[in-house]
Amino acid sequence: MRRAAVAIVKLTSCSGCINEFLYTIASYPELLRSVSIVHATEFQDLNTLEDIDVALVEGSVVTQHQEELVKEVRSRARTLIAIGTCATFGGIQAGRVGEDLRKVILASYPNPDFISALPDVKSLDRVVKVDFNLSGCPVNGDALARLLVKVILGGSEVPIAESVCSECKRVGVLCVMVSRGVPCLGPVTLGGCGAICPRFGRGCYGCYGLNTTVVDGERLARFSEVLEKVGMGRGDLEAFLKYFSFSALTKIRVRE
Ligand code: SF4
Ligand code: SF4
Ligand code: SF4
Repeated sequence: MRRAAVAIVKLTSCSGCINEFLYTIASYPELLRSVSIVHATEFQDLNTLEDIDVALVEGSVVTQHQEELVKEVRSRARTLIAIGTCATFGGIQAGRVGEDLRKVILASYPNPDFISALPDVKSLDRVVKVDFNLSGCPVNGDALARLLVKVILGGSEVPIAESVCSECKRVGVLCVMVSRGVPCLGPVTLGGCGAICPRFGRGCYGCYGLNTTVVDGERLARFSEVLEKVGMGRGDLEAFLKYFSFSALTKIRVRE
């Protein structure tokens, strides 16, 4: 059987999602036997960008070069999967949008003259068509491997856009917000992590991004009032949303 040509493309990101994928794929021998990595941005001897069956793209688009690269990858890839919250929503780097870009660059880099960033931070779907968005910071490696098994070995994934609360209920976690008044963004956040934070008694801070299939501006506004009652102010909520759901904020705003 011909091996599926897979490209692992890195944009502005921390490599956490790619590492999660590389650690996890070793547990899926059938998948390992079925893929051939033809491009990996971080390995110089793996740079072919032709006839890609599946492109895994980590990171958000913050430079002109990245915008052109993503368009090229899209034109060559049969299936494009955005992996991680940077790629699906913009990620933590979106926190600098609206700030003085020059000041941010000067504060961050010893040789700022080499940096050419755009003022905006774009999720992949703002630049090209994305076939599957798999958020998470980092992405869940098993979820990505299972999706790849479906895409490469046959069948199509049926996405179920549930929220973190559903995962809490399924595994019987006591709700930290109801039982202890701990602020938790689980009701409006995409599931997929297995409710890791509530399992350890912490509130969810939304790192999988807003579940926009069930959350609209009105619901988010009402939920922000609930959060205020348990001690999370509008400023903190907006900061979390900017870090982990930036691209969704163009459609959903917290009511003033
Ligand atoms: S989503 Fe999180 S883990 Fe993945 S590349 Fe971005 S910052 Fe890193
Ligand atoms: S702990 Fe958070 S995610 Fe879990 S049920 Fe309560 S509100 Fe939902
Ligand atoms: S519970 Fe929330 S913050 Fe914690 S890993 Fe899951 S989505 Fe991220």
